[in-house]
Amino acid sequence: MTDKIKFVKHIQNSTIHNPMMDNQLDTQALEIRKDPLTGAQSVFNPRLEGKVAMFYGQSDAALIEKIAEASRANCFLCGDTWKQITPTYPTDLIPEGRIRIGQAVLFPNIFPVAQIHAVIRVGDKHYVPLSEFDPQTVEDAFETSLELPRKLTTAGVDVRYLTINGNYLGPAGASIAHPHFQVVGGDLPFTYLENIMGLSRQYFQKHGTCYWSDLVDLEKEKDKRYIGSTGSVEWLASFSPSGTNEVIGVLPKRSQFLELDGNDVSGLARGVVNVLFGYAKMGISTFNFAIYSGPLGDSDDSFRCFIRIISRQNVYENYRTDDYFLQKLLDNELILTPPEVLAKNLQLHFE
Ligand SMILES: [Zn+2]
Repeated sequence: MTDKIKFVKHIQNSTIHNPMMDNQLDTQALEIRKDPLTGAQSVFNPRLEGKVAMFYGQSDAALIEKIAEASRANCFLCGDTWKQITPTYPTDLIPEGRIRIGQAVLFPNIFPVAQIHAVIRVGDKHYVPLSEFDPQTVEDAFETSLELPRKLTTAGVDVRYLTINGNYLGPAGASIAHPHFQVVGGDLPFTYLENIMGLSRQYFQKHGTCYWSDLVDLEKEKDKRYIGSTGSVEWLASFSPSGTNEVIGVLPKRSQFLELDGNDVSGLARGVVNVLFGYAKMGISTFNFAIYSGPLGDSDDSFRCFIRIISRQNVYENYRTDDYFLQKLLDNELILTPPEVLAKNLQLHFE
C-alpha cells in the first residue's frame, strides 16, 4: 500500500535577520506538503502554530445573532413562506413541484448557476450555531437532496454529475443565515470533479485498486489523521488540505449517489454534525462542504463518494477574507492547525 500512496513533505529553509530575536540570523523551516492524488500543495510554518487568532480572528457571537435577527422577517425559509414564494419544478419531474422530508424542503434556485441547481431548507430554525446542528435535521436534508437524482433518473433527464454542497454564514458565501444546502450539477462535471475522477481513473489503471479505499485503509493503519467512522462513512483529516481544517469523509463502498442507502445518509449526517461540533469547540463559526459522486448510474470501481468540509473566516466586524493570492491564484493552502492535530481534536467527538 505504502508504495501506491505517498505522503510527500518538502522542506524549505527561509533565512532572515529577525528583529524579534535581536536581529540575529533566524532560519525558519517550512514544510510543503503535496496531496497524494492531486499534488495540490499546502505549507506549514511551525512558528505560526498557535497564531490561528492572527489569521481567523474571534467569532463575534453577538454580531452573528444580530445579523441573523435582521434577516429573519424576510427569510423565505422560515415558517411557511417557502410555500408561497419559492419556485417549483415541472410536474413531469416532480409532481408536487418540491421534495419534502420532515422539515427539509427542496426547490429550484430562481437564478441557477448549473443545469440543476436546487436549494434545500435544513430545518425550521432560522439560525443554528455550529454546536447545535441536529443529526436528524441534517439527515432529512441529505435524504431530500438525494431524492432529486432519483427523480431525474426516473424522468430520463440527462444529468450525470451532481454534487451536494453547503455554505454557512457570510464569510463562507451564504447569502442567507437560515441553514440550507444546494444540489448543483448537469451534463458536465465541475472542474474539480473532472480532475479528481480523471486522477482516480489513472490510479486505478496503474494499481488495479481504488485510491479512495486505499487512502482510508492506509490512514486507518497509520492512525495519525484518521478521525473515526459513523456507520459506513470513514473520516480523516487531509494530509495536504485545500482549505482550512479540511476533513474528508469517504464511503468506501459507494461510487455514486444512486447507490446510497439510509445507513449511508445517516452516517454522513452524524459525521457532519460531529465535525461542526468540533469546529465550534475550536471557535469556528462558518463552513463549506461538497459531497462528490461518480457519474449517476455508473458503477465505477475507480471512484468513491466522498465529502470535503472546510472552515472559513470567522464572523466579526470588518473581517478579512481567508482566501488571498496564495489560495485564489497560486492554488496553494496555508496550514495553521496541522492535520494530525486537527484529527486529534475531532476524534473526541467521534467516540
Ligand atoms: Zn429563516
